[in-house]
Amino acid sequence: MHFNDILARDKTIFSFEFFPPNTDTGWNALEGRLGDFEALEPSFVSVTYGAGGSTRTKTHELVCHLAQNTSLDPIPHLTCVGHTKEDITSILDAYVEAGIDNILALRGDAPKAGSASGDYAYAADLIEAIHSHKGANFGVGVAGFPEGHPETPNRLVQLDHLKQKVDKGVDWICTQLFFDNNAFLDWSEQCELIGIDSPIIAGIMPITSISGMQRMAELAGGANFPATLQKRLYRFQDDPESVQKVGIAWAAQQCAELLDRGVRGIHFFTMNKSSATEEIFQSLGASSGSKLRGSH
Ligand SMILES: Cc1cc2nc3c(=O)[nH]c(=O)nc-3n(C[C@H](O)[C@H](O)[C@H](O)COP(=O)(O)OP(=O)(O)OC[C@H]3O[C@@H](n4cnc5c(N)ncnc54)[C@H](O)[C@@H]3O)c2cc1C
Repeated sequence: MHFNDILARDKTIFSFEFFPPNTDTGWNALEGRLGDFEALEPSFVSVTYGAGGSTRTKTHELVCHLAQNTSLDPIPHLTCVGHTKEDITSILDAYVEAGIDNILALRGDAPKAGSASGDYAYAADLIEAIHSHKGANFGVGVAGFPEGHPETPNRLVQLDHLKQKVDKGVDWICTQLFFDNNAFLDWSEQCELIGIDSPIIAGIMPITSISGMQRMAELAGGANFPATLQKRLYRFQDDPESVQKVGIAWAAQQCAELLDRGVRGIHFFTMNKSSATEEIFQSLGASSGSKLRGSH
């Protein structure tokens, strides 16, 4: 379904992010959980591209599998770094053929010095390529960074770069994960101030272990881990089950507050596991997304 139709259908968007597993064991584990994810009735699910070392063709494979065999509506991520125009054209052709309606357009992490950088410098260039792709009318989403992006320390300039993407035609913005709602809410207001009017979907990732938090700090450079959250987690550092409970309770509280504040959507970085997301849904008083989504 085109993203505009999803927005028209759902007052609040709930979505899940998957990554294409690298191993058969990982695929089987995800396959075994797809029914649990379907039962939660998200507005859509997204599939990462080349992140965390996963191979790029596997994104296409997982997206097609979800589209053909489940009730989930998959949206592929696509990064342009290192790709030629021909690469992007053939990837988009394959998505047209598979009946995919939307793409999350990203640059990807900057290439290492000396490696080939491809035909696209920034996500904004990829957006243009997607919109001008023959025979397609993709809905386009982009990434937003409420706590800044490591390459652009000047936060006003970072917002200008987001505005440049939005001006190329963007249907939604999905944010980097954050643990401090005030940072997100303030940044959303700043977006409004410079005329960014695309719907903003808040990225939420429950912490399920101390080592997981340390990895997140590395991957989502710039994310702030509030002292209160850290104190609560470290109080239970020798008790993994309690650490997980604290992380899920924090994410649930974030979601409840964001819903109270009228957020347009919440995107869960699931790490391909369903239990934390299920617990959060239950804490919000719903067993499925359709109960939370409401309609216009
Ligand atoms: C929701 C979400 C999903 C993601 N999924 C993936 C994934 O599947 N695979 C993956 O590899 N990565 C993924 N990422 C990570 C993302 O690719 C990196 O954070 C990347 O560094 C930035 O991507 P972008 O699309 O925001 O890039 P851009 O919007 O191109 O911005 C990249 C940097 O360049 C700066 N910039 C932009 N335009 C200009 C300009 N004209 N001049 C100078 N500087 C400029 C920006 O300020 C920013 O610092 C995801 C991130 C998010 C938030």
